[in-house]
Amino acid sequence: MTAAYQEQNRAGLRLGAHLSIAKGLPRAAAMAAAIGANTFQYFTRNPRGGAAREIPADEITAWREVRDRADLYPIAGHLPYTVNPGAAGARQQEFARLVLHDDTLRVAAIGGEYLVTHPGHYDGDREAGLARIIQVIKESYLSIPEPGPTLLLETMAGQGKEIGSLDDLHYILAGLGWPARVGVCLDSAHLFAAGWDLRTPAGCRELVQAVADKIGLERVRAMHLNDSAAPLGSRRDRHANIGRGELGEEGIAAIVNNPFLSSLPLLLETTVSHYSEYGEEIALVKKLHSCE
Ligand SMILES: [Zn+2]
Ligand SMILES: [Zn+2]
Repeated sequence: MTAAYQEQNRAGLRLGAHLSIAKGLPRAAAMAAAIGANTFQYFTRNPRGGAAREIPADEITAWREVRDRADLYPIAGHLPYTVNPGAAGARQQEFARLVLHDDTLRVAAIGGEYLVTHPGHYDGDREAGLARIIQVIKESYLSIPEPGPTLLLETMAGQGKEIGSLDDLHYILAGLGWPARVGVCLDSAHLFAAGWDLRTPAGCRELVQAVADKIGLERVRAMHLNDSAAPLGSRRDRHANIGRGELGEEGIAAIVNNPFLSSLPLLLETTVSHYSEYGEEIALVKKLHSCE
């Protein structure tokens, strides 16, 4: 047994980053390999606009082969930030419905496991916003025949009228009737900004207990692993590079050594000027994981 094999088995981490599929899915798989990732996330379409690239059938065939060989699992599509199912306006509602529906099918077509979305923002009344989110998910996602990707609602920092606290996610899931096809994606930077102090093992345990109580651990399928440039409880969504923010190396170590959190696929969404920089951050996370 080689040292590399033992290392891989002992660590057992599913660790990756947000990558671009603009140059094709096989190219994204090569990028994942280059940075030492065994999972990745991508935008299903232009994150600030909405235009989607058509993925040709031969690209999907090549992708499925590459993916199996490289053991890339799981794969998560992320909806654009412009999608807001909580909006009251007819045009924004229509856009949210169209994108949620179409991108569920697009992720299903490449065999992706998850579709991550921000729950949305409310206009005016908070409960009306939550009700609109529940309605959009019912009509544009749950109406699609299985199999398909599991929809993951992301925990948010709670900036302004942003929906995405653990209580909000509980409310939405309850409103949907707790379907097995809807889960949750945690985000370490958002949770920290929302007031969860993840800088210590005890703080991480406290969060996991709250998630178990409000959501159920089996429903949590992924975590965005980001450091936070914004302070604890600031309700501001500002990602920092791993170990360089308010969580610091100690906080990241607390997260990646928590038995539950480290069992989740961990996806970096930190700011990099070139994807290869994720390689250094992934190496650092692996080092912090094996330190304890
Ligand atoms: Zn997100
Ligand atoms: Zn964020």
